[in-house]
Amino acid sequence: MIDYEKTGVVKKGDIDVPDDERLEKGPVVVIECVENIPCDPCVAVCNFGAIDMDEITDVPDIDFEECTGCALCVTECPGLAIFVVDCSYSEEKCKVTMPYEYLPVPEEGDEVTALNRKGEEVQKAKVTNVRQSGKTYALTLEIDKENVWDVRGVEVKR
Ligand code: SF4
Ligand code: SF4
Repeated sequence: MIDYEKTGVVKKGDIDVPDDERLEKGPVVVIECVENIPCDPCVAVCNFGAIDMDEITDVPDIDFEECTGCALCVTECPGLAIFVVDCSYSEEKCKVTMPYEYLPVPEEGDEVTALNRKGEEVQKAKVTNVRQSGKTYALTLEIDKENVWDVRGVEVKR
């Protein structure tokens, strides 16, 4: 049984993640979709064939080498389960791009609170990019490298 089935909270060990060699090459997708639900817009939106599934109820099968980190899939996922991480540009920092459907919407340069999957504070972080697709935003936060597998949410106060 994966941890998610016991706790309701996904952990790194529950999902397929890129290895250190791939992380060093550039931004790459992390998909935290663990339920066998009938859903596949992530497959359709990827222009690089990096996401695949045989049956619509499968969890996504990711080819990290094909992923360019474009982040188009982040705002397409109705489960808000897709992230892009970039640890390729610094020894100390990483960027995490995540879906965001709350108000207020932050602006680039804002300081926000980066949260873990339980909604607990991990650290303060700077918003480095805000992108909108439909009614969903994709926020990019710069965080400490050691927290790249923990930060998956954000609290914004204005
Ligand atoms: S980040 Fe871009 S290239 Fe990577 S899986 Fe998502 S849509 Fe495909
Ligand atoms: S779009 Fe999101 S919820 Fe649907 S299969 Fe892909 S990752 Fe899972």
